[in-house]
Amino acid sequence: MRILVVGGAGYVGSTSVETFVAAGHAVTVYDNLSTGHRESVLPAARLVIGEIHDTPLLERVLREERIEAVLHCAARSLVGESMADPALYYHANVAGGVSLLDAMKRAGVDRLVYSSTAAVYGEPRRVPIAEADRTQPINPYGETKLAFEGAMRWFAAAHDFRAISLRYFNVAGATERNGEDHEPETHLVPLVLRVAAGEASHVQIFGQDYPTPDGTCIRDFIHVRDLGNAHLLALEATGEGDPSLEVYNLGSAAGFSVREVVEAARRVTGRAIPARVVKRRSGDPPVLVASSRRARRELGWQPQHSKLDEMLGDAWTWRASHPDGYRDGVRAESDGRAAVAVGAGEAAEQNGGGQAALSQTGTSSTPAAIENA
Ligand code: UDP
Repeated sequence: MRILVVGGAGYVGSTSVETFVAAGHAVTVYDNLSTGHRESVLPAARLVIGEIHDTPLLERVLREERIEAVLHCAARSLVGESMADPALYYHANVAGGVSLLDAMKRAGVDRLVYSSTAAVYGEPRRVPIAEADRTQPINPYGETKLAFEGAMRWFAAAHDFRAISLRYFNVAGATERNGEDHEPETHLVPLVLRVAAGEASHVQIFGQDYPTPDGTCIRDFIHVRDLGNAHLLALEATGEGDPSLEVYNLGSAAGFSVREVVEAARRVTGRAIPARVVKRRSGDPPVLVASSRRARRELGWQPQHSKLDEMLGDAWTWRASHPDGYRDGVRAESDGRAAVAVGAGEAAEQNGGGQAALSQTGTSSTPAAIENA
């Protein structure tokens, strides 16, 4: 398959690219590098630096690369930021997503997998959450991801798209090559590992008075490798069947408490990891766990790496090999990878295409507009 991964330089996107390349697929990454990392893109994949709002450029890349299926994992993804600045989220997650759909329609590409979120459910009435359960987001992040699912559904009806949306909660772990490197970092696992590495004095536990066995919130974690595999199975599934939008939850079905995560990190790293209980963070439901029965049954998805110790161990190993995270641009400049930076509406060409509007890896401008989910 010839696959375009939009947001393919981010944590989730780059690890999925590794899965696709290993399975023998031809991959093009489209990313504006606002939060993604050039270094994270495998040399075997072509990198096009562009904005998701640039519909003509997307259309041109889809045509030139003869793309058959698209994985969309470019989105803004911070709940707090979305509450403070909803416009950012509507612009990137809804308007940006519709630009991609429009480009696909124009280029005649009708297979799409979307990296969605279980934040579309809001505060669940029951756990584990099933796909048919009520969707009632409680923040602009979840609302805009749900709005894009709606757009996918109508494009599927109007233009015969076969689309799949995958909803999940917390992703953790790493591959040898790629891991989690966000700034600012707000997620539990990388923050706990920062304490283990001696970069912070202690981890804060946001509330210990929840109605759970140890009083801390319970969350569903999946290994980023298992997520990459789910993306591949979903892309393959869009190759058959009637035009539609299908929705699948991905989760480990069990869930782990915040305290369990901290304890597992102590075990795996052998470090003390001091923790302090502080007051609850607003907007945190006590238990978020998804049922992935449908994905297992219909996609054949079987998480194989989503044990807590393995996720933390892989994330810790990646940190050890990347103590300063990604060194953006440094390695990419020396490996000569084909990469193109283009402005709005300009043509994407292969590296060395000789057009004045194009620049090669390491010399490109990187306009900021989207983050990687
Ligand atoms: N959490 C915590 N301390 C932190 C960061 C997160 O106790 O420094 C808790 C948070 O309240 C939630 C869980 O860890 O219950 C997972 O939070 P995270 O931000 O990693 O992911 P979310 O579930 O919000 O997507």
